[in-house]
Amino acid sequence: MEPIDLPPAGPALAPDHITCVECLGRCYRLRPAPPEGDEPGDWVAYRCPDCADRFDLQIPEHDTEA
Ligand SMILES: [Zn+2]
Repeated sequence: MEPIDLPPAGPALAPDHITCVECLGRCYRLRPAPPEGDEPGDWVAYRCPDCADRFDLQIPEHDTEA
């Protein structure tokens, strides 16, 4: 996988990395955010390189009440 080093352009709703709740390491996204940004309701998977744990975050839905 190529390293991603892009400025935050789109409405990326999920962080590029999160803190591992197991070992307090840094978990990186298994897939980079799409150019158009994450979709609310999408699941984003993270992998911790330290303890190999996987975490899935769901993009919170916007308040879509019309
Ligand atoms: Zn970990």
